[in-house]
Amino acid sequence: MTATLGPTLRIAIAGSGMGGLATALALARQGFEHIDVYEAARDLGFVGAGIQVAPNLSRHLQALGAWAYIDQDAVEMEEVFVRSGTTDEKLARSTLAHIRERYGQPHRVAHRAALANGLYAACKALSPRIQFHFNTPVLDIDYDSPSPRIRVRAPCEGAEGRWVNADLVIGADGVKSVVRKRMLTRSGELDDDAEDTGQAAYRIMLRRDQLEHDPELLSLLEANTTSRWIATGRQIIAYPISNHTILNIATTQPDTNFAAAPTATWTTRADKSAMLGVYADFCPRVVKLLRLVPGGEVCEWKLRVHHPLRTWVAGAVALVGDACHPTLPHLGQGAAQAIEDGVVLAVVLGKLTDAKDLGRSLLVYERLRKARAESLVAEAATSGRTLLSADRATQAARDAAFRRVKEGGPNPDKWVDGKVTDYVYGFDCVADAEARYEECFAEVVAC
Ligand SMILES: Cc1cc2nc3c(=O)[nH]c(=O)nc-3n(C[C@H](O)[C@H](O)[C@H](O)COP(=O)(O)OP(=O)(O)OC[C@H]3O[C@@H](n4cnc5c(N)ncnc54)[C@H](O)[C@@H]3O)c2cc1C
Repeated sequence: MTATLGPTLRIAIAGSGMGGLATALALARQGFEHIDVYEAARDLGFVGAGIQVAPNLSRHLQALGAWAYIDQDAVEMEEVFVRSGTTDEKLARSTLAHIRERYGQPHRVAHRAALANGLYAACKALSPRIQFHFNTPVLDIDYDSPSPRIRVRAPCEGAEGRWVNADLVIGADGVKSVVRKRMLTRSGELDDDAEDTGQAAYRIMLRRDQLEHDPELLSLLEANTTSRWIATGRQIIAYPISNHTILNIATTQPDTNFAAAPTATWTTRADKSAMLGVYADFCPRVVKLLRLVPGGEVCEWKLRVHHPLRTWVAGAVALVGDACHPTLPHLGQGAAQAIEDGVVLAVVLGKLTDAKDLGRSLLVYERLRKARAESLVAEAATSGRTLLSADRATQAARDAAFRRVKEGGPNPDKWVDGKVTDYVYGFDCVADAEARYEECFAEVVAC
């Protein structure tokens, strides 16, 4: 496609996470020719974990030409088991066989590196439209020059770095976004501190050779199954990735480490004995699994969200992904929503014929995306509260609801609830953007 402003509009993107990569790729495919991506990390960054590739994500990865890596790695999920963490008793079983038929794609899981590399390779294939600048953090942003400027620092530059001019800046710099921080400061809004959820997550991977000696554990790697063990305040999810060669394990538990050291980074190498202590009362199968993790390979993430922002846009600057709607992992939609943002932004900017309408176009993007992304953030939080509740009455109601799932009742695990999957997976954000663009543009003009 050839966007009218493709040859002229200078686009600077802060961050090459899932949102930044997908935004750069979608814009380049719309015909934008001058896209610079500034990434603080030396390379694509921390990718040592699995990720849910739901139908609403795979659909876009395929359309963006970023599917080959993921296709080799991904595992199709057929069943999801929810079990009691302490007793291993089965609370619910959901089949996912209908997902492909209903939403045109199966539910898959994959290695985050496959997703990141797939997007990156597709970006590189569109070189020189997209230029990557790794090891080059965005330090500051000037909203008040005629067009936005960002201050970046490449490794060879002094502490002050240098200013780079752009026509459009996209903040895809994640939950700790500098672009968001400056946007809020500028508008006099103080609430930039992300809300502390009090939760943290361990991310662990076990290779096939570490599981082979134990048929019970090996079966977790070989089945096309997600297993979820829940208990008060804690959960463990395990699923196979990388074509059944790696078992990905993700947990959620009360945050003690980061809370004890509030200035520490939000991702850290964690202590294996502390992890075993947190899950000591879990069933022998889970404890056996966690004991296999090599000492130096436990990674802990602090889970952060923030209150919905008043706006995602200021002048010619817009936010995407975790920079504007960080989420808890309970719906497995964080990366998917970041990528939907990028895809919709590209559709909207592709329709731009006059640079003076850039700010309005960004507001159209916000109208198309904000309500959906924020509703899923809320849904993920609700699901987490219900699943991990410490309240006995809530636990009893939840477990009774699990028993009614096979009779067609709503699933307390929102990730597999039919109504939620219809809303999340059944939605085509590109078709929606095409259908609602004119109406949203008219609303923005009228404001
Ligand atoms: C434990 C856990 C499990 C999860 N599981 C899933 C899942 O199964 N499925 C799913 O869809 N989502 C999942 N998510 C959420 C998902 O990882 C995020 O929502 C998604 O990565 C957001 O993408 P993003 O590009 O907005 O931000 P990020 O992926 O965080 O990328 C931001 C990028 O910006 C860079 N950056 C930061 N500051 C600067 C700066 N100043 N200058 C330049 N670059 C900068 C960072 O280095 C990073 O590369 C999970 C999250 C957690 C914490």
